[in-house]
Amino acid sequence: MKWHLVDLHVHTALSPCAGADMDPHGVVTAALEVGLDAIAITDHNSALNCEAVMCQAEPFDLIVWPGLEVETSEEVHVLCIFSSLEQAKDMSQQIGDTLLRRRSMARVLGEQLIYDCTNRVVGEEDNMLSTASGYSLEQVVDMTRALGGVSIPAHIERESFGLLGVLGFVPEGLGVTALEVSGGRNTDALRRMHAIGESIALVTSSDAHHRSEVGRQKTGVYCQRLDLESFRKACRGDDGHRLALVGVREGRN
Ligand SMILES: [Zn+2]
Ligand SMILES: [Zn+2]
Repeated sequence: MKWHLVDLHVHTALSPCAGADMDPHGVVTAALEVGLDAIAITDHNSALNCEAVMCQAEPFDLIVWPGLEVETSEEVHVLCIFSSLEQAKDMSQQIGDTLLRRRSMARVLGEQLIYDCTNRVVGEEDNMLSTASGYSLEQVVDMTRALGGVSIPAHIERESFGLLGVLGFVPEGLGVTALEVSGGRNTDALRRMHAIGESIALVTSSDAHHRSEVGRQKTGVYCQRLDLESFRKACRGDDGHRLALVGVREGRN
């Protein structure tokens, strides 16, 4: 077994708030430069650029998990990550069906660029991606699980769109794989303050919107062969699998 570095929260230029430097080729180049073993592509409410990033990563030793960062009806952000493109597309379709269509004025919010496998822009997403979907947190978690994916509430301690910031607590029995914390946090203090039991794994990731941000925070996964199942095992601490947060203060110091 060995350590693998994963960044589970990376946007592309499909997200209206992401930089134009986040084209699929640029994302893959940035991930390779910082030595990541895997990234998850998690644009707001859409998995439309996952395939293009997977294509760019194919010649390289980089795993790309397709996913999306869903905004629930409570305005909580949840990373929904899958092992297959079909699963991610299925989730993306279900979420997309509940989104508002963009009016022309919405363009001021930012472009939502769709890329093909040759890194060319082939269109723009018409749904408004920076908005709440029609599904509740519980529904999003259930839908992700039904499709075989993992769900991870994102940047939980942030005031806006974070699970703790919005709801103030982690609902009991919420069947998520892990919780994502942002940088600069003492994880022990966070667990104590919000009564987060040791049975729920904490991960960290970059929430990269620009190339220079890819991998600025990441999670180490100790396993034999890196895949989504071994990540799940590491979250549970099964069979010697384990996690380490890289770029976030752990423990009391
Ligand atoms: Zn977010
Ligand atoms: Zn994000």
